[in-house]
Amino acid sequence: MNKKVRARLLVYGVVQGVGFRPFVDRFARENNLTGWVLNASLGVEIEAEGKSKDVKKFVEGFSENAPPMSLITHIDVSYLPPVDYKDFVIKKSIVQPWEFTLISPDMATCEDCLKELQDPQDRRFGYPFINCTNCGPRYTIIRDIPYDRPKTTMKKFVMCPACQKEYKEITNRRFHAQPNACPDCGPKIWLLDSQGNEQAGDGITKAKIFLSQGKILAVKGLGGFHLVCDAQNEEAVKNLRQRKRREEKPFALMVNSIEKSKSLCFISKEEEKSLLSIKRPIVLLKKKKASLLAPSVAPKSQDLGVMLPYTPLHYLLMDGPYLALVMTSGNISQEPIVFSNEEALERLKGIADYYLLHNRDIYTRSDDSVVYIANKTETMLRRSRGYCPLPIHLDYHVEQILACGAELKNTICLTRGKDAFVSQYIGDLENLEAFNFFEHTINKMKRILKVNPRIIAYDMHPDYLSTKYAEKVSEYDIKIPVQHHHAHVASCMAENGLKKKVIGLAWDGTGYGEDGCVWGGEFLVADFFSFERKAFFSYLPMPGGEKAIKEPYRMAISYLYQTFGDNLMDLALPFFFQMDNKKLSAILETLKKGINSPLTSSAGRLFESISSILGVRNKNTFEGQAAIELEYLASSIRKRNNISAYPYLINQIDSQYQIDVTPMIKQIVKESVNQKSSAAIAFTFHVTMAEIAVDMCRKIREECGITSVVLSGGVFQNRLLVSLLTEKFVEQGFDYYIQQKVPANDGGIALGQAVIAYFKSI
Ligand code: ZN
Ligand code: ZN
Ligand code: FE
Repeated sequence: MNKKVRARLLVYGVVQGVGFRPFVDRFARENNLTGWVLNASLGVEIEAEGKSKDVKKFVEGFSENAPPMSLITHIDVSYLPPVDYKDFVIKKSIVQPWEFTLISPDMATCEDCLKELQDPQDRRFGYPFINCTNCGPRYTIIRDIPYDRPKTTMKKFVMCPACQKEYKEITNRRFHAQPNACPDCGPKIWLLDSQGNEQAGDGITKAKIFLSQGKILAVKGLGGFHLVCDAQNEEAVKNLRQRKRREEKPFALMVNSIEKSKSLCFISKEEEKSLLSIKRPIVLLKKKKASLLAPSVAPKSQDLGVMLPYTPLHYLLMDGPYLALVMTSGNISQEPIVFSNEEALERLKGIADYYLLHNRDIYTRSDDSVVYIANKTETMLRRSRGYCPLPIHLDYHVEQILACGAELKNTICLTRGKDAFVSQYIGDLENLEAFNFFEHTINKMKRILKVNPRIIAYDMHPDYLSTKYAEKVSEYDIKIPVQHHHAHVASCMAENGLKKKVIGLAWDGTGYGEDGCVWGGEFLVADFFSFERKAFFSYLPMPGGEKAIKEPYRMAISYLYQTFGDNLMDLALPFFFQMDNKKLSAILETLKKGINSPLTSSAGRLFESISSILGVRNKNTFEGQAAIELEYLASSIRKRNNISAYPYLINQIDSQYQIDVTPMIKQIVKESVNQKSSAAIAFTFHVTMAEIAVDMCRKIREECGITSVVLSGGVFQNRLLVSLLTEKFVEQGFDYYIQQKVPANDGGIALGQAVIAYFKSI
C-alpha cells in the first residue's frame, strides 16, 4: 500500500496566470511529494512522487483544491516507475506556453483582497484597484497572449519595489499577478463634473455624497461604464430614464450584501450561490411586494436584477448612505457600453452629472452577465463578464470555425479543438459602434486563441450586418449560411452534448426562413447536418413588417382579422378602447391589400398578440415586453389543476403539419368579452401553448421514433411556459433539453452556427 509511486498529470483549462504553479508546489509539499511542475503548451505538466497513499491524496484532491480563478477542463493521469526526486521544484517552461491554454474571465474581488481593502493598517487600504492572482481583471485588459503585463493595459504602470517583490515571490498571493498595483505605482481615480472640471478632494468620497444627493454618475467599471444613481430616489431614477431614453426596461441594481438584497427580493439557496459566485452576474430575483425602491427602477416588473459588488471600487462606493444603487450600462439605448474616458465624456454628455474616471484602460468591453435560476440551475440570459472567454466544451474535436451570430444580442463563436468559445455580449448590430465592437471582438479572440479559421458561418438573413461581414471578408475558404432556427436547435444540442437526431422546438420572434418568410414557431427534426421542418404555426401576415415587433397590436389585429373577418370591429374588446380608430382602419387596409405584410409563423408574435388582445400591452418599450407582462399576469394564477387547453387545429399539408390557432383566438375573445379574468385567460393560453407543443411532439415521435426534444429561442425564456412544458414532457416519456450555458435567445445562435458549419464541412 505504501510503496513509492510517480504520477504524471497533464492539466488542461484555465491553468496559467491564475496562481496555478504555486498552488501545485504547495499542495505537493503538503502531501510530502517530490517532483516538478511546469507550464507546457497544452496546459500544466506535473510529476509527483511519494508514498502511494500520498500520491492518491494529491491526485484525488487536486481539482477541489485548485485556485479559485482556475478552471480545470480535463486531467490526464498516468503512473510511472519512481525516479527518486529529491525535492519539489517549479521548472522553467520548455515550450511556448499559452498556445492551447485558456484566458481567464474577469473575476470578483476575493476575500483576502477585500480584507486588505478594509484594513486601515494595510498599504492598500481603500485602494480601488486592489487585486491578486485569485481575483481582478483579465479578459477586459488583455490585448494579446502570452498573458504578461506588457500585453495588457497595465503596461504603462511600472511596479514599485514593494509590488515587484510580491510579484516575484512564489509563495505570495500576488506571484505573477499581472495587474498587481498599489497606491504608489498603480492606476488612480478622479471625479469630473459635467463640464469636465476636476473636483477637489477624494473622488470616491465626493461621489458618494453626490449619489446621496440624487445625482447621476458615470462610473468606469471593469468592462465598461455604469450609469449610477440612488435606487430609492424616484426623481434621480426618473431623470436617468429620461436622459438615457429608456422608458420601462428594468434597471439593474447593486446591493452591498445578501442580507440587504433579502429586504428587496426573495432569494433561494441557488440564487444566493449565483449572487455570491466570483463571476458575480446580475441575478433575476422575485421582487418583494412592499418595495423600498423608487417605483421607476423596475415599473411593472415582478423581477429585479440584482448584483453584489465585484470590484474594489464598487465596495468603496457601496459603503454610503443608500440601500441600493441603480447600475445600468453606460450607453444610450441600443449602442454598445461606453468603455473609455474620452468616449464617456462625449457619449454620456447630458446623462451624467459627474464622471468617476480612472486610468486603467479597458481594452475590450464586457457587459454584466444576466442569469436566472430555472430548475435549480443557473440559466443564462446574457453571457458576458465573468463567463467569457471560457469555452463550452464539446465532446468531439472540431475544425477551427468562426461563427458570426445573428443580428440582435449578437455574440460570435470561435472553435478550437473540442472547445467552442462564445464571445461576450456584443449587442444589437444596428449601428456602426456595435459593428466595430463586433469586428474588434473577432480579431481579439482570434489572437488570444491563436486560431485562424478557414470556415465562416453566418445567418441566412441577407440583410444582417453579420451576414454582410461574412460575405465580404476574403480570408475564409468555406462560407456556410445557416438557417436561424436550425442554429437555435443546434446550440441547445451542443451545450447538452447531443449528436443524434432530435425534435427541435425553435420558438422566437424572428428568423429568416428558407422560403423567405419570417419563421419563429418551428418544429424541426434535426441533427447537425441538416433539418426537416416538420411543423409550424400557420402563416399570418405581419402588417407593417418590422413595425409589428415594436407594436404588438398590429399582429393582434392580424389574428383577429383572420378569425372574425370584417366583424372584428364589432368585438367589445378592451383592446379596441385603447386604440385609435383611424389607425385600426389603416392597418386593416394594409392587411386586406397585403401591403408590407410579410408572412410569419412566429410564436413570439403570438404571445404578444394575446397580450394586446387582453389589454395588457399594445406597444413594447423593450424587446418582448408584452409577452413578459402576459407571463407575469398568468403566473398570478394559483389554482392550476384541471385547466384544459383552448381548442386548436392541426392540419397536415403534404408532409408538414400546420397549427391553426383560430379556434383558440375565438375562445379567448369570447371569454374576454364575457369578463372572464385576464389572468385566467393568460394562464390557459400558456397551458394551450404547452399542449400544442407536446401534442405536436407526440405526432412527430410516432412518425420518426425520436424521443429527445430540445427547446431553444427567446420564447423559452418564459419560465411559466417551460415549467408547464417540461411537466408534460416527463408525463409523456420524452427527454427534454433546455439552454442554460448559453442564452436561449439569439445570444446562443453563434454556437449552433459553428457546430453546424463543422458537420456540414466534413
Ligand atoms: Zn484577490
Ligand atoms: Zn506598488
Ligand atoms: Fe432567434
